[in-house]
Amino acid sequence: MAYDNNNVFAKILRGELPCIKVYEDEHTLAFMDIMPQIDGHTLVIPKEPAETLLDISDEAAAAVIKTTKRIAAAVDKAMQGPGVVLFQLNGAGAGQTVPHLHFHVIPTSLAELRQPHAMVQGDPEVLKANAEKIIGALNSL
Ligand code: AMP
Repeated sequence: MAYDNNNVFAKILRGELPCIKVYEDEHTLAFMDIMPQIDGHTLVIPKEPAETLLDISDEAAAAVIKTTKRIAAAVDKAMQGPGVVLFQLNGAGAGQTVPHLHFHVIPTSLAELRQPHAMVQGDPEVLKANAEKIIGALNSL
């Protein structure tokens, strides 16, 4: 399917919508999930326009994995959860709701992840405080 230039993450990449950023480089961006499944829930996206991992170039896939690895280490250190769950959905049929490739980085366990979570917007002040913790951990990796 053709990439939708008006999806919410494309708008964040163009600066048309805000995000609580924790990291950015030439090829990737990481920011707080606005409806966190748990404190510290972070998203990592490529700048290349791609809906799923199946659509992206090998070079951009390598860049987004590299950033995800680094963000996972920082989230683990900052949030001190039981571990870090990474997941990434490909296609609406799999449950993907934003059609721009993203990795979820969540400091939790699979058992906890399976519990129902309120799909409500996180408190912006808490999201910002967690972003600061993650940025601090990133700078001390
Ligand atoms: P998925 O269901 O894998 O497509 O996940 C999309 C994620 O994007 C969900 O966890 C949403 O909470 C999150 N999300 C949606 N809009 C925004 C936004 N404007 N800023 C940050 N995260 C968002």
